[in-house]
Amino acid sequence: MDFRLTEDQEMFRQMFAQFAEKEVEPLAEEIDKKEHIPPELLQKAAEQGFFGALVPEEPYYGAGLDTISYLLMLEELAKHCTSTALTMHIHNTLASKPILQFGTDEQKEKYLPDMIMGEKIGAFALTEPDAGSDAASLNTVAVEDGDSYVLNGTKTWVSNGGIAGVYVVFAKTDPDAGSKGITAFIVDGVTPGLKVGGRELTLGVRGASITTIYLDDVRVPKENVLGKVGEGFKVALSTLDFARVAVSAIGLGVAEHAFNEGSRYASERKQFGIEIATKQIIQKYVADAWMQIEGLRYSLYHTAWLADEGERYTAEAAALKVMASQVAFDVANNMLQAHGGYGFIKEYPVERIYRDARAMSIVEGTNEILRVIIASKIFGEYGLKIRP
Ligand SMILES: Cc1cc2nc3c(=O)[nH]c(=O)nc-3n(C[C@H](O)[C@H](O)[C@H](O)COP(=O)(O)OP(=O)(O)OC[C@H]3O[C@@H](n4cnc5c(N)ncnc54)[C@H](O)[C@@H]3O)c2cc1C
Repeated sequence: MDFRLTEDQEMFRQMFAQFAEKEVEPLAEEIDKKEHIPPELLQKAAEQGFFGALVPEEPYYGAGLDTISYLLMLEELAKHCTSTALTMHIHNTLASKPILQFGTDEQKEKYLPDMIMGEKIGAFALTEPDAGSDAASLNTVAVEDGDSYVLNGTKTWVSNGGIAGVYVVFAKTDPDAGSKGITAFIVDGVTPGLKVGGRELTLGVRGASITTIYLDDVRVPKENVLGKVGEGFKVALSTLDFARVAVSAIGLGVAEHAFNEGSRYASERKQFGIEIATKQIIQKYVADAWMQIEGLRYSLYHTAWLADEGERYTAEAAALKVMASQVAFDVANNMLQAHGGYGFIKEYPVERIYRDARAMSIVEGTNEILRVIIASKIFGEYGLKIRP
């Protein structure tokens, strides 16, 4: 067992850190305030290969990062701007990856080159107004018509909505077959009938473009079915397993960002004639944060290793995401407390980090549902079937 990063991984980490410090950090406050990521920043990220992070070098000219290097990319971005990290995560983890994993050669050739260049940003449209945690109960329908399917329905909470050129959309091709009647589709952003609703005005990750998507007689050629007809829910679940690992890297970065801000502030701020860092309660906040962060880091690497092994890791990914969201929130909360009143105003980044951290227990499945997944593994060993 070797816990060190390889030379390549360390080189990538430094490159991601430099990019995040130089290009992302100066814009992070504005991104939150204006609720907008400047396209020039995304263009620069594309030039660095961030949009092709998981796509192999051969034959698609992607960056071909290994899993740990990809997680390092998300972590380093999240140490400065959660919205930028989330935008990259959705594109790579939830759009490029399922196309790579389940797509035909023709689909990969058609979509991946533009996605790698950042010319077509990816999005993942599963959630609906009446189908959140119970995603299999979605109401969007896809009706066969000649050599196409015609999609009708409403998708909510679509991260990268509006800025995306490619949507991975889940719809029912057999409404009576439950989760076995769901099919995944690759839908071009410019398809007639696909309309983008207004931006959600969110508590945190305000720079991420989260919108509703309306599908009104959207005609999608049959060759755009992703995976097999009726196996869309498998595509969604497999994608979400890995997404829980990837978003945990964002949680790690968020926690580290808060930790860096809080420990620096505590070492500078003086009360009662001395730095507050000399007080035991502040040391507890910082020491606990450090323990939580290092524990999360190695759980992240372990779950990433499981994912690479190709074994089922659904419960482990769920557990990791619950842990990451708790660490991100606890650390942000305690580091805000260490700032006193200054943590409660926008002048200090910890206020934004705290709001961003709150999203972590909802994205990629709520912590309640993830605990059901964990419990079903535990009680499954006793022959019990646990359902949400
Ligand atoms: C920042 C952000 C970005 C997102 N991006 C995307 C995206 O790109 N694409 C996408 O498709 N979706 C996205 N989502 C949606 C997200 O996946 C859903 O919000 C989530 O699955 C929960 O669904 P819901 O909001 O409808 O809550 P509900 O399912 O209505 O849940 C409400 C509450 O009830 C609890 N609950 C529900 N059922 C049970 C149960 N059986 N047992 C115990 N508790 C239960 C939940 O845990 C929650 O606390 C995003 C969400 C956020 C916050």
